[in-house]
Amino acid sequence: MKEVSVGGRYLNPSFIVPACTMQTMSLVVVGSVAYDAIETPHGRRERTLGGACTYIALSASYFTQTGIVGVVGDDFAPDDRVLLANKGIGLEGLEQVPGKTFFWSGVYSADMNERTTLDTQLNVFADFNPKLPASYAARPYLFLGNIQPALQLGVQRQMPRARFVGGDTMNFWINHSRDELLSTIANWDFLLINDSEARMLAGENNLRKAAQKILDLGPNTLVIKRGEYGAMLVRKDTLFITPGYLLEDVFDPTGAGDCFAGGFAGYLAERGFDLRNGHFDVHELHRAVIYGSVMGSFCCEQFGVERFRALTRAEIDQRFEEFRRFTAF
Ligand code: AMP
Repeated sequence: MKEVSVGGRYLNPSFIVPACTMQTMSLVVVGSVAYDAIETPHGRRERTLGGACTYIALSASYFTQTGIVGVVGDDFAPDDRVLLANKGIGLEGLEQVPGKTFFWSGVYSADMNERTTLDTQLNVFADFNPKLPASYAARPYLFLGNIQPALQLGVQRQMPRARFVGGDTMNFWINHSRDELLSTIANWDFLLINDSEARMLAGENNLRKAAQKILDLGPNTLVIKRGEYGAMLVRKDTLFITPGYLLEDVFDPTGAGDCFAGGFAGYLAERGFDLRNGHFDVHELHRAVIYGSVMGSFCCEQFGVERFRALTRAEIDQRFEEFRRFTAF
């Protein structure tokens, strides 16, 4: 298919969206907003801003206008609100209620490939019932972070005109709420999970076969994250596999998978992608995987969300180009 160059990237001409439409290409992200205690071989943080929704939104904010839907307690620090707002993240959907913010604590192995959860205190997150602000209902893109599948479905119903809907899940929901999860993801355009979750969901150890089985469950696009080993994107019409970006120093992998999701979904939103109506370019999907990998790698360079304080889009694009050089042959 003929492609044209836009800002150094190559696009299918039918895929280019007029600038006036681009301004409304905003993404809604739903999920946990948390405080985390993290221990890695590089040190320890007792209480740092975290949560899947936080990481996804911070990452996506480099690509598209992003609004979050989450809940925090009355202990949520004004400085953390400012960090998000300074990235242009919409906070109308961030509910603040009496009680404590969700708290999670984890410790990493020496090679940081394994993580043990030490503590999970749901606090105000236990009663989370996501309500979309009226201003979000007409937004075109929705990313459903890892929460109870029935709640994910409820949010999706509040955005009936979304032009792409995707999300994440985890082993707990795959094991304990399987039917609920299957009826939720049946209506998604893409599912983004890690390799062990893919095997579990499909009931199949071979990853290639597992991917094919998952595509029969509803989503037309599956992204499987493989930690430091990279990621793969599978559709009936394409298989794309990339290694991970080889960092010299990994300080803290917390949130890397969520930042991958934010980069992937944020880039597709930036490009005006429309998976639902078959308006897409497969090469853009591949680039979205690379942007996802780039964002995951930046996340690991400092503790918690710290790297996002100074990270610039120029650094992101530079690493994207580096990725291209590393993998071209
Ligand atoms: P990741 O490293 O991408 O798996 O994301 C880590 C983030 O997920 C941390 O900031 C935690 O606050 C958050 N988290 C941990 N457990 C849960 C859970 N059960 N539900 C929602 N978010 C969680």
